[in-house]
Amino acid sequence: MEFKILDNGRIQSKGYAMLDKNAKFTSFEFSRHAIGEYDILVKILYAGICHSDIHTARSEWGEAVYPCVPGHEIAGEVVAVGSKVSKFKVGDYAGIGCMVNSCGECESCKNSQEQFCEQGKTVFTYNSKDCFHDNENTYGGYSNNIVVSEKFAVCVPKDAPLEKVAPLLCAGITTYSPLKFSNIKEGSKVAIAGFGGLGMMGVKYAVKMGAKVSVFARNENKKQDALNMGVSSFYTSTDENVVKERFDLILSTIPTAYDPLVYINLLKFGGELAIVGLPPYEVCPSINIKDLVFKAGKKVYGSLIGGIAQTQEMLDFSLKHQIYPEIELIKPNEIDKAYENLTSGKAKFRYVIDMR
Ligand code: NDP
Ligand code: ZN
Repeated sequence: MEFKILDNGRIQSKGYAMLDKNAKFTSFEFSRHAIGEYDILVKILYAGICHSDIHTARSEWGEAVYPCVPGHEIAGEVVAVGSKVSKFKVGDYAGIGCMVNSCGECESCKNSQEQFCEQGKTVFTYNSKDCFHDNENTYGGYSNNIVVSEKFAVCVPKDAPLEKVAPLLCAGITTYSPLKFSNIKEGSKVAIAGFGGLGMMGVKYAVKMGAKVSVFARNENKKQDALNMGVSSFYTSTDENVVKERFDLILSTIPTAYDPLVYINLLKFGGELAIVGLPPYEVCPSINIKDLVFKAGKKVYGSLIGGIAQTQEMLDFSLKHQIYPEIELIKPNEIDKAYENLTSGKAKFRYVIDMR
């Protein structure tokens, strides 16, 4: 057997946790709730590192619960299934993103917008209260296994490159979803601000959807990568005199303090600024409504991952068109180094932890 069931039915797990916001990762043993009728147990093979993991583990979005085991870009193999599971069988591959459960009954859940459960019962993959299991804290994918409601796992074909599938579960869906929401199509003019894990996926999807795509970055380090991905302009300035073109959509994946107005200024009339990057709350930018009124005709919206149905759609689209992230596989003892690189401009695109 690839897993151990404890006397009380719980599943033994081990992973990597931060014990406080300044700590280094350390190995951590814990247990997960028993496999319910509709749950699957997934042996985790790969876990992507999202910048949200860093914001959370470092308590940049409010005080985290410690020990904190991040990780919501999970790809692995199903090793056990509950008695009523119909979507998976043992041996299948599964992907798990940012959520593991929700009420399933409200309008949002029925419309597969589970991240907006109207009863407030969305259970996020880590650092979240699991109201379906005595409010226990959830632990994420930097670990050897996870138990999840089958509804919240997506089906991954056995011939998929699993290590590249992992980042799709957050970086993929979080960028695919607003591109769809903004109806990006052949000829749309799209700019992606912040060219890291999410930004790269935004570029690849927008190019595939037929858009003319530009990138806003802080330096020229990854200009060649952008050009290779089909980007037509690469800017390290948001000066309106330097950037002469105007966009239908600017998708901001920026995780640091910045001025959203400089991007609003670069929109066409009727253009949209979609915001997914969420900087530390202490430095979170805001937009003055006076500016929205005087810059009239521009739309600004936020976007939070995407629902489960759309996550499956994104995955199928990615596999069909072979749209995968640029990744660097690392070992679990390299997570601290990866965090350091991601916050000091030394990272390229996505680190994926090889949990095998
Ligand atoms: P990464 O660290 O992989 O990428 C961020 C990129 O933004 C880096 O390339 C970085 O460049 C660049 N950047 C930083 N500051 C600026 C700036 N001022 N102007 C232009 N570019 C800048 O992070 P992720 O892609 O994983 O995540 C991005 C953000 O999205 C995070 O805040 C994360 O929490 C959030 N997020 C939101 C989700 C949602 O549902 N809304 C879901 C997932 C993530 P450099 O290399 O120079 O540092
Ligand atoms: Zn994420």
